[in-house]
Amino acid sequence: VFEELRKKEKLAVVGQMAAAIGHEIRNPLSSLKGFTQLQQERYPNTNDFYPIMIQEIDRINSIVNDLMYLGKPKAIELEKASIEEIIAYTLSITQQQAEMLGVTVETIIEGPLSQIDCDDKQLKQVFINLLKNAIEAMPEGGKIKIRVKVSKEHKMLISIEDEGCGIAEENILNIGEPFYTTKKDGTGLGLMVTNQIIKDHKGKFSIQSRLEKGTKVEVELPINQKLSK
Ligand code: ADP
Ligand code: MG
Repeated sequence: VFEELRKKEKLAVVGQMAAAIGHEIRNPLSSLKGFTQLQQERYPNTNDFYPIMIQEIDRINSIVNDLMYLGKPKAIELEKASIEEIIAYTLSITQQQAEMLGVTVETIIEGPLSQIDCDDKQLKQVFINLLKNAIEAMPEGGKIKIRVKVSKEHKMLISIEDEGCGIAEENILNIGEPFYTTKKDGTGLGLMVTNQIIKDHKGKFSIQSRLEKGTKVEVELPINQKLSK
């Protein structure tokens, strides 16, 4: 119970902080990005650092977004969407990082899939977070398998399996704690946001891991639920 309370307090602090500074950071950041892109267009070939600058601005932006999301989770807006398209989008976003680390991703779609009722923007965020974690767990390269199928209970099951560093047993309870990270420049916010979004979708999330062997995360989502509109 105390543990829960402590978590809630931490979250409240994060929330207040996010509300107070989120917007303030986002606006100047977006003009910074705009002008950087403009410079890049004006002076192509003169500065190879523009792509990195833009990438880093995006990174700050996504940290701010995570903080703001945790402070004030958005109401989900359910619409029919294709899970294959959501995953394809996720792969396009993470492709560069995967290639850089020598990570390959195989997507295995088992059987015909129906569209699911979801907030596709938010689900994209979920799979980006999970895929990034899988990629970052394999700095020396490796393979990720994404499996998608519909269960007998008519749920969408998505698993993401990597062959990365894994999670030590004594650390597994820390996963999803605000700011828990083992990475040099991690934020420890990704899985919290992920968890929250899946919960909002009335779905389930589980994680199995073996140190030095790899990690498998599973997401289960209802296919049909009441549309909010
Ligand atoms: P971040 O990625 O910023 O560290 P996350 O909330 O996404 O924050 O993850 C928290 C921690 O959980 C990571 O720092 C890492 O220790 C562990 N973790 C999550 N996914 C994996 C994975 N696929 N393999 C190994 N460790 C993982
Ligand atoms: Mg992460």
